[in-house]
Amino acid sequence: MKYLPDIRKSPSPNFNERREGRSPTILVMHYTGMPTAAAALDRLRAPDAEVSAHYLVEEDGTIHLMVNEEKRAWHAGVGKWRGVSDINSASIGIEIVNPGHEFGYQPFPELQMKSVVWLSREIVGRHDIKPFNVIGHSDIAPERKTDPGELFDWKMLAENTIGMWPSDTSIFEEDDFFENLQVIGYEVCDRELVTKAFQRHWRQHEISGIADTETKKIAAVLRKQVEHLTK
Ligand SMILES: [Zn+2]
Repeated sequence: MKYLPDIRKSPSPNFNERREGRSPTILVMHYTGMPTAAAALDRLRAPDAEVSAHYLVEEDGTIHLMVNEEKRAWHAGVGKWRGVSDINSASIGIEIVNPGHEFGYQPFPELQMKSVVWLSREIVGRHDIKPFNVIGHSDIAPERKTDPGELFDWKMLAENTIGMWPSDTSIFEEDDFFENLQVIGYEVCDRELVTKAFQRHWRQHEISGIADTETKKIAAVLRKQVEHLTK
């Protein structure tokens, strides 16, 4: 049977118009990083907080519609991806309920991930968002952010045609790791923090900030995949 999540309207006043009427080309995943879903919803709807997202997904899979996709929600802050710096104008943001590293980071429940997959497929399909533009908040802001973090199942998303996952990493030529990161989309700022952000997304079992052989191999393969997709 087709999965159909429970969808609710929880509008947020925290949005404006996308710059030059831009349409979304990037999908950004977040965790809420607050003790409860209710606290996160309150904050994302409070006018003085000046933060929001297009969607929020609860642990039980309930999806809240907060900001219309046409509008510019305020979820990304300062960041950069593939040369784009006004990420809010160019993206759709999904907040996924999880206390986060500060309040007790925990695995994302299966029902929640089912809804994230369902919602992401709809968004990616509606706007033709490319695999290399489905990213985490930490990917666009490695010096400030760690969400959605190393427990977020990017591999499962990629198996459901959302985002990228490295294919065969057995063939490897030694090359420039940081150049590869740039081709993938990263703004190379602090080298340790950008390496950590990369690992949180694509080498989740060890977030060392050190570009070891395994990390380098994954980056080399992903670069090839991006180049193939942008050819
Ligand atoms: Zn975030």
